Amino acid sequence: MNNPLRKNFRTPTSQYRPISNDIFYKWTKTDPSLQLLDIYPMTSKDEINTKNPDLLISGKSTALLIQSCVPQIVDVWSIPSIDIDPLLIAIRIATYGSKMEITNKCSHCDHENTNDLDLAQYVSSIQIPDYSKGINLDNGLIVFLRPLTYKESSDLAMEMLEIKKSMEQIELMEDQEKQQEYLSLYLDKSLEVSFKTLAYATDCIKTPDEVVSEKEYIYEFYENSSKLVIDKIKDQIDENSKLIEFKPISIKCQSCEKDNNVIVNFDYSSFFDSRS
Ligand SMILES: [Zn+2]
Repeated sequence: MNNPLRKNFRTPTSQYRPISNDIFYKWTKTDPSLQLLDIYPMTSKDEINTKNPDLLISGKSTALLIQSCVPQIVDVWSIPSIDIDPLLIAIRIATYGSKMEITNKCSHCDHENTNDLDLAQYVSSIQIPDYSKGINLDNGLIVFLRPLTYKESSDLAMEMLEIKKSMEQIELMEDQEKQQEYLSLYLDKSLEVSFKTLAYATDCIKTPDEVVSEKEYIYEFYENSSKLVIDKIKDQIDENSKLIEFKPISIKCQSCEKDNNVIVNFDYSSFFDSRS
């Protein structure tokens, strides 16, 4: 039987335009022509999931949360990772409203300041890199970058975490010979992950005759490139990440009236807890 309470289930309370809209986003929505996504407030179950440490590390808690609150996204893992933070903020806005209380200690007089941050305005300060601009290499190739998908970025982060944990274990080994052996093995592994990151971050490479977009070919090309080429690509990736990052905000101290640059820390386990 139809539940008569159904019409009183939660409804979307806000809308959000993905920052990567129409560049890399098309295939992940229920209706490809959608410009604005409906955002539903969190349920109690969503809130519990944001606090589960196992789900948090693997990125699963974020994926579950977005699935629940932004049902128009078909496959959360396939969306560009640059959209994840803004989407989480949009969910917080839909749940608790646009104002978030932030506290900071003044660097000049130690006064504890409390201010309201307007999250909607904060999100609108994010810029999207111009991915249509290629990187010209000396050998005539042009490299085009793209944002990683959420799946790629979560998997790479997990791989790096595993390597870091193993490296810590290796440092404790007593057998020097074994230690060296394992050390070089894991250094190779970490190099592998960084080439994989570069290959994933590359949309395609244009040669004078053709366009190469196969990841295994791009990976092989980077493996056999000079450090100069790799640095050039890495520099552009770093520059892109700086555009996407949340910028520090300037807050005037309520006591000494001097300005402080404050970086707002979005630690999700507590981010979704503060109802201020
Ligand atoms: Zn002060």
